[in-house]
Amino acid sequence: MRPSIVLSLISACLASAGLAADYYLAPDGKDGQNGTITQPFESMQRAQQAAQPGDTIHIRGGIYHIRADQIAKRSGTWSYVFLMDKSGRSDAPIRYWAYADEKPVFDFSAVKPEGTRIHAFQVNGSWLHFRGFEVTGVQVTMKSHTQSECIDNQGSHNIYERLSMHDGQAIGFYLVNGSHNLVLNCDAYRNHDFTSENGSGGNTDGFGCHPRKGAIGNVFRGCRAWFNSDDGYDCITAAESVTFDHCWAFYNGYSPAFKSLADGNGMKVGGWARTPTAGLPSPMPRHTVRFCLAVRNKASGFYANHHLEGNDWFNNTAYRNRNNFNMLERTNDAKGVGFNIEVPGTRQKLRNNLGYQGGREVTNLNEVRSDAANNYFNLGLTVTVADFLGLDEAQLMLPRKADGSLPDMGFLHLAPGSACIDKGVDLGFPFAGAHPDLGCFESAASR
Ligand code: CA
Ligand code: CA
Repeated sequence: MRPSIVLSLISACLASAGLAADYYLAPDGKDGQNGTITQPFESMQRAQQAAQPGDTIHIRGGIYHIRADQIAKRSGTWSYVFLMDKSGRSDAPIRYWAYADEKPVFDFSAVKPEGTRIHAFQVNGSWLHFRGFEVTGVQVTMKSHTQSECIDNQGSHNIYERLSMHDGQAIGFYLVNGSHNLVLNCDAYRNHDFTSENGSGGNTDGFGCHPRKGAIGNVFRGCRAWFNSDDGYDCITAAESVTFDHCWAFYNGYSPAFKSLADGNGMKVGGWARTPTAGLPSPMPRHTVRFCLAVRNKASGFYANHHLEGNDWFNNTAYRNRNNFNMLERTNDAKGVGFNIEVPGTRQKLRNNLGYQGGREVTNLNEVRSDAANNYFNLGLTVTVADFLGLDEAQLMLPRKADGSLPDMGFLHLAPGSACIDKGVDLGFPFAGAHPDLGCFESAASR
């Protein structure tokens, strides 16, 4: 028997016996080493080669200066730097985790292949769990229409946790294929493509989720997006439903100096503008946005973006956006060539939402043909500064808690005695007091 076959058999036996292996990656590692903690690998690509389902790759802290010679694959107009195409299994995911409390940073600023899009992490595998590292400096080299991406997901059942995609020209996270992926407690910030299309930055969203037909069950939870040149979260032309849960979007559409850049919606939820009628998904997906926060985005905080047939908007808080809630829809024209006539949104379901100090509070909502109840705008409430514990926006960028969850803060939390406390209806989510409150932060107090 050839040694490689013997090794394969041994590794198969180890896997079936549940003896998961541990490998290590370090900035000063070498791919010719054996991947132990004292002999770590250098590259994700080499770590993947070693990994089997159930194994853990421990990523040591420090800066990984990624080089162009590490590009795993070039195909057409794409460069895939790390091509993660080996899958785990449902009972044995492969974990790529930051080691202990260390802070690994993958810096792609020196990777500038001419004439191609750059996908820093191309994740084609499934049952993978990425946790606890930063992706920064991803470049755009093309002047024509293009986009680069920090993470491109094509697989299913993947978990992206405590990742930070920032200070590059690329979209933070992007998905068009794959089901049941969870993006958990991730941050995408200060991303701006200033190279292509005269530097408009019109494609650089924090999180893009545009699932094709059959790509179901994708969820964003506990994420933050700020100072991205286009939108915080964008799911235009999604053919399946997407869930946004406890996510924050702020300052999108602006540079860190609040220079106006591109679209600047906090949460741009769906939309099929100008699509020929025959090209629309059937049924039309209905997206869910719940317990989310949108602050001072250049355009709309919560935006239906011409979505057809409505979304569910539950317990969201909007503050200082040009439009806090914008339910704009399109309708078909008489010639049936597409949905190109703008109308107020119908079939929108809104419950327990809260807004304050928007340029406009609620716009483009057809209340007769929607289902809006127990929101600040239809309860006859006058929201004032006294309703809140604090309005210090800087708290939005506080470090996350040790477990990766969103930071504690007083910002936009309801003050005791606020008329917004217990004014919501029970939607099946946990609440304190007699009833749920309005907005994304439930107060411990009762009225
Ligand atoms: Ca966008
Ligand atoms: Ca309550």
